[in-house]
Amino acid sequence: MEGPTALNTEQLHAWTSKAMTRARSGQLPDYIPRLSRASPHWFALQITGVDGQTHTLGDSCLQFPLMSIVKPFLLLYLLCQWGEESVFKRVGIEPSSEPYNSLSQLQHDQGWPRNPMINSGAITLASILSETDSTSGYQSLWNWLNYYGHCQLFLDERMLASVKSFPNPRNEAIARELATRGHLTEAVSALDTYNRLCCLSGTIVDLAHLGMLLLECPPPLQSSHCHTVKALMTTCGLYQASGRFAVQVGLPTKSGVSGAVLSVVPHLGVIACYSPPLNREGNSVAGLFMVEQIAKALDLSIFS
Ligand code: GLU
Repeated sequence: MEGPTALNTEQLHAWTSKAMTRARSGQLPDYIPRLSRASPHWFALQITGVDGQTHTLGDSCLQFPLMSIVKPFLLLYLLCQWGEESVFKRVGIEPSSEPYNSLSQLQHDQGWPRNPMINSGAITLASILSETDSTSGYQSLWNWLNYYGHCQLFLDERMLASVKSFPNPRNEAIARELATRGHLTEAVSALDTYNRLCCLSGTIVDLAHLGMLLLECPPPLQSSHCHTVKALMTTCGLYQASGRFAVQVGLPTKSGVSGAVLSVVPHLGVIACYSPPLNREGNSVAGLFMVEQIAKALDLSIFS
């Protein structure tokens, strides 16, 4: 099978211009002021193959926060540090048909977070870091990602200030519900750690490097942990759109509300895309379009 770098640049440019037309139908998130001021025209794409070949399109200098794309890496880190048994005592592995920040799903499940890719699950996992060290728990994950992922993520303090400047009653209620039900001990510091993790930022090249971590799984990472993370990206990574995307495209994928999308093509490479306008489910319109075109043209679905 040909890897995702097998495409020629002309083809990628043609899809990019279609993707940008489609992105006009998307919206910028309104609950994080700094994200709402992103340009809908910003675009970057990086495809990296296991053979070391790359394709970079658009503006590879753009920096953006990972937002929810940090969730699979938070899970990976904790699996490596704590092992599957301890981690999955705190969070489930079931998909959810509700939005990523659904409180009603959590209440329906008696406060048990369904999976690590939605906010309830990620806030619970962030609490493991904050319970260890409330002021710098997130730093251990940050350093770990930069070291093993060979990337240069930084904490975007202005983005963090913007996140904190605007009340997020949904996330606050989720954290309180988790604490009330005994799934975490300290709601405020768990949420603070979660917000910091979401504001770890980098370029499209950093994002592709992170994706390669899941693919190459360098020691001491265990391949079974990378396998678990990729499986959960496939079933839960795009929230309510995960099932449809698995059928139509078939690649483990995670999105973030900043407009970033990361897809892993097992054994072959990664596709990372950044374009801020989002669809109704909170996924980048152009990002999903690009991954779909590339996957279909090369028949990359893991179910092929
Ligand atoms: N920080 C965002 C939130 O909790 C992350 C959501 C996302 O990227 O999908 O609302």
